[in-house]
Amino acid sequence: MLLSNFAANAELKSELSDIMKHHALPHAVIIDGAKGTGKATLADIIAQYCVCTSEQTKPCGVCSGCMKAEKHIHPDIFIADSTLSVDAVRKIRSSAYIVPNEAPMKVYILLNCDKMLAPAQNALLKILEEPPANVQFIMTVQSASSMLATVRSRSRIFSLFPAGIREAAQIAAAHFPDKSPEEVSHAAQICDGNIGMTLRMLQNGGEEALRLAEEIFQAITLSSEYPLLTLTGQLASDRAFAVSVLDCMTEIAADCVKASFGVSVPSPVASSVAERYSKKRIAGISENILYARKILNTNVNLNLFCTWLCSVLRTY
Ligand SMILES: [Zn+2]
Repeated sequence: MLLSNFAANAELKSELSDIMKHHALPHAVIIDGAKGTGKATLADIIAQYCVCTSEQTKPCGVCSGCMKAEKHIHPDIFIADSTLSVDAVRKIRSSAYIVPNEAPMKVYILLNCDKMLAPAQNALLKILEEPPANVQFIMTVQSASSMLATVRSRSRIFSLFPAGIREAAQIAAAHFPDKSPEEVSHAAQICDGNIGMTLRMLQNGGEEALRLAEEIFQAITLSSEYPLLTLTGQLASDRAFAVSVLDCMTEIAADCVKASFGVSVPSPVASSVAERYSKKRIAGISENILYARKILNTNVNLNLFCTWLCSVLRTY
């Protein structure tokens, strides 16, 4: 993808385009932004710029370097998407001193650095302090504050923001031509204009997951426990579906918290929950949903999970 096709973030794109034009990219960059704002896509674009062999504007998108970068098969682009240990960082450090295979420079893309521990970050800092020539580091993180101040000070931070509901809906509509405009726009609204989340929500029965998530929220406020028990019970049949529903519930819960502080939110369900419950109770529900989402990553028994979820949503 070319920078011009990257959604939203006009100010950042203009800044980055200027930097590329003047060959002034700092040797380390941190891309920060919420999940789904396009951090990995932007990292790919910067990597493509670094390995592009065109004499003209880089990245050209058509040279062999650009094509290989796009397919993630470029020998000079190293991508790590896990929590790096000190040893892994040391390996990167020694390989960084080896000259590139075919590109003008070597690129290290370190995705999701949020959980990188201080010793590993300190090992990384050693490379950033005395970077080998022709090496580019690109780190992505949900919040730059997860990185040590010393690492941040040696990096340029590019912050990404959600595209906005209208643009997210337009992009999602192009990805899912079979979905109705109402479905697409509803998903974009619930995801508050976050493109990645909107696309994920629309994938694999996402609209069904969204519908169930909204019904669960409505049922939380009812006096009888039975409807909530029946609805949460629907999560027991399929773990992947349960994950999608919990992801949608996480989004709705975030809207409930915002609405409880008087912020206008697009989700009518979130607004109505915020009207009925205290801030403390909403915060409690939200925390329990986040906890429930984490539990789904484990090998939990789904039937027990559903009963537990129903009880914590009601009794908090
Ligand atoms: Zn190129």
